[in-house]
Amino acid sequence: MSSAPADFRSDTLTRPDAAMRAAMAAAEVGDDVFGEDPTVRALEVEGAQALGQAAALFVPSGTMANQVAIHVHCRPGDELICEERSHVFVYEGGSAARLSGTQVRPLRADDGFPAPEAVRAAVRADDVHLPRSRLLVLENTHNMAGGRVLAPERFAALLGVARERGLLVHIDGARLANAAVALDVPMARLAEGVDSVTLCLSKGLGAPVGSLVAGSSAFVAAARRARKAFGGGMRQAGILAAAGLLALRDGPARLATDHARARELAAGLREVRGLQPLAPETNIVMVDVDGARAPSLVRSLAAAGVAALALGDTRVRFVLHRDLDASAVPRCIAAATAWARTA
Ligand SMILES: *Cc1c(COP(=O)(O)O)cnc(C)c1O
Repeated sequence: MSSAPADFRSDTLTRPDAAMRAAMAAAEVGDDVFGEDPTVRALEVEGAQALGQAAALFVPSGTMANQVAIHVHCRPGDELICEERSHVFVYEGGSAARLSGTQVRPLRADDGFPAPEAVRAAVRADDVHLPRSRLLVLENTHNMAGGRVLAPERFAALLGVARERGLLVHIDGARLANAAVALDVPMARLAEGVDSVTLCLSKGLGAPVGSLVAGSSAFVAAARRARKAFGGGMRQAGILAAAGLLALRDGPARLATDHARARELAAGLREVRGLQPLAPETNIVMVDVDGARAPSLVRSLAAAGVAALALGDTRVRFVLHRDLDASAVPRCIAAATAWARTA
């Protein structure tokens, strides 16, 4: 049994491997705010292509990627529509309100993806009393719904409603590569016809820092201004973009392993008394814990060298990623089984 802790708390925990560190050390750099960093440029060109968009912008985080997009798309007093557990609504420090004066209209949807009829019904009439409905934000995969994948038919229907009602569409694609691998389609297919899309290079793809936000050339030009205003203009950022390039090129091929291990973990935990894992679609396993014992489970796992995140008293999240070795899943199942015997 390996003694290094098996850390399932997040796929942001991955550390750059030796090849990535070597690429970073060797990166050609310049001042990116002057537009003179060749490695950042290369990443933005390849990223735009991978996401099927005309242009892309390298930003420090997924949060900034989403927030510059909201800032470009919405004027103060506009309303954006999203699912109620969306990252842009719950986990970005209220930035849509803080930075863009944008009001959020959250919709409830068990699987993380609002029904097209619900979106249609949420669009405000053209009336001076009402905010202007401006933007639909879709999260693919949906983190808090358990890494759920937005099915292409549902995506097409949502895009249709947005077009019909004059909404712009933004995809929070922090884990879009996971969705693409799960559906066995190129990422670009999952962002066809949208106004902007993001991708986190620093999650399962393995880069230490950085995200992309992509769209039309005009969108990216405006996003570049917003990034600078938000304090995200980076200088010799090619050091980071070199890691991002490897993440973009080589990262997706690794994700199928994470997804297979997520299924193994869920299958193992399903046999443990008191635990009900949701069936994983990608690299996230949400587990409901009977009797408000999520904190007890997490403490017990930690004592056995397995880290996971309690989401309140009744749910624990496990995220698979490339820095977990083959022993991590069996070790986690064994530790949970031991917990169930004593708890
Ligand atoms: C992680 C994540 C982000 C961005 O997070 P950062 O920590 O700012 O990079 C955005 N959306 C979703 C769905 C995420 O899981």
